[in-house]
Amino acid sequence: MLVSAKEMLTKAKAGKYAVGQFNINNLEWTKSILLTAEELQSPVILGVSEGAGKYMCGYKTIVGMVKGMLEELNITVPVALHLDHGSFEGAKACINAGFSSIMFDGSHYPIEENIEKTTQLVHACDILGISLEAEVGSIGGEEDGVIGAGECADPDECKAIADLGVTMLAAGIGNIHGKYPENWAGLSFETLDAIQAKTGDMPLVLHGGTGIPADMIKKAISLGVAKINVNTECQLAFQEATRKYIEEGKDLEGKGFDPRKLLAPGAEAIKATVKEKMELFGSVGKAK
Ligand SMILES: [Zn+2]
Repeated sequence: MLVSAKEMLTKAKAGKYAVGQFNINNLEWTKSILLTAEELQSPVILGVSEGAGKYMCGYKTIVGMVKGMLEELNITVPVALHLDHGSFEGAKACINAGFSSIMFDGSHYPIEENIEKTTQLVHACDILGISLEAEVGSIGGEEDGVIGAGECADPDECKAIADLGVTMLAAGIGNIHGKYPENWAGLSFETLDAIQAKTGDMPLVLHGGTGIPADMIKKAISLGVAKINVNTECQLAFQEATRKYIEEGKDLEGKGFDPRKLLAPGAEAIKATVKEKMELFGSVGKAK
């Protein structure tokens, strides 16, 4: 059964660890992440961007696939199916399709409009028991064609959005999506500290988890981050393993062309990446 992310994140914030959000792109991705979460007895959040939603034939297809897997793979750990960086329309579509968690990214609207739209979604999600993530201060880098500058959020704006009754809050603290440039200044812990001081128990979300050094991740968790999004790192792991398989000519040996064999190294590489992240975030063994 899919669950809201509320309980797992409340526990994570109180227990000083973070739950990973791993974005999915297809069946192999989803299966690898779910099996790893079960093996490590870790709660997990499956992230779906609007672009990935279209790629996987729409939100209803995804809900069907994930619910089927939870049953057929006997997954017992808490799993939330979460819309990543949703538009207002996308959020409504995912609520209707049966997602258990939603991110509405209103960070590109003026704060008043972000508040108004987030408020509408707070009411809808409350009634249905769905968790809701809001964003303040755009997160840098490019995601599905949306480019952000990597700014730091205003702690007062964070408080205004947190007070609307959202479940978790993504705030820009110098983090960016995708690979970090060599001249990256690092996370702004000063900003994070100020945001936590204003928002209290609210679980904070760190986007762009790929390539942030382990010590920065740990410090961010100690300052109130309870959810960390990982996307690019799984893609790179998959790509590298698939490239190796082809370069070694394994697709040319025997039935090496069988897609179940061709995609297996990539799927295993995703498992290893997810495991490494769950260990770093401290969510191993926290399923109960
Ligand atoms: Zn993000």
